[in-house]
Amino acid sequence: MDYQSAGENIIWTGVGYGNSIAINLGEKVFIVDSMLNWELAAEWREMVEEYFQIKVGGLILTHHHPDHVFGNQIFSDVPIIASTGTKDMMKNFQTEYWENVDQAEREDWENGGYGIEGFQFTLPTICFEQTYQLKGPRTLDLIRVDGHTTGSTYLWLADTKILIAGDLVFNREGPFGADESCNIIQWQKAMEELIDLNPDIVISGHGPTATIQDLTEINDFFKASIDFIQDKLVAGFTSEEIETDPKFPDYYYSERKERKTRSIQHWIRFLKEIG
Ligand SMILES: [Zn+2]
Repeated sequence: MDYQSAGENIIWTGVGYGNSIAINLGEKVFIVDSMLNWELAAEWREMVEEYFQIKVGGLILTHHHPDHVFGNQIFSDVPIIASTGTKDMMKNFQTEYWENVDQAEREDWENGGYGIEGFQFTLPTICFEQTYQLKGPRTLDLIRVDGHTTGSTYLWLADTKILIAGDLVFNREGPFGADESCNIIQWQKAMEELIDLNPDIVISGHGPTATIQDLTEINDFFKASIDFIQDKLVAGFTSEEIETDPKFPDYYYSERKERKTRSIQHWIRFLKEIG
């Protein structure tokens, strides 16, 4: 399996669609996000334990999206740590959607690379409201900020100034902002919080590692999008006029036009509601 390293104590891979990261805290290794497929997750866990020569001590989830949690069952022997928001979103997804999927939908998931055969929906076992700290020879802070989704959490290694951003950062790829719980105002604020950390390395949820410049570019896109929508709403434009306006700000959406439209539609709805 292809992987890359970020400093001495981290390796990560994008093979399972959403990036999965392994962090060596000294006595234990933690994996962050379990990819879209439990068989891939099993392969990755084995590789990580071989690489660091230390057992995986737990799984941490940055948020509830299936491409970050569908390999969870491979970690059912260790703590699975997530914010309460993430656990609630997972439970909703399970009861409102997953328990009712029909055969055709299952095939769609399977064709999308998700491991459906033998899949077991696996929830977090340790939850926190806002922050959580894992202590070892090195310390890892988990901070919930929401934004991309209710429950979205980033991870911060203060000693090496490494930030693991989850899907708060889609690096050089149009961000998915159409989750029903996506709060674009909160997301933009979270970007400023990430920039203020002044990280040396940023591991994104999708895409390559990022720099402060990348974070700034994403933050500028969010600010410009919010301003654009709010100005147009005040001027009386309809949702459709706003979302099809060729002057709507862009951030690497050229190959993901549908994702852009769905995200903008959600942001307009959201900004209209909060007024
Ligand atoms: Zn996501």
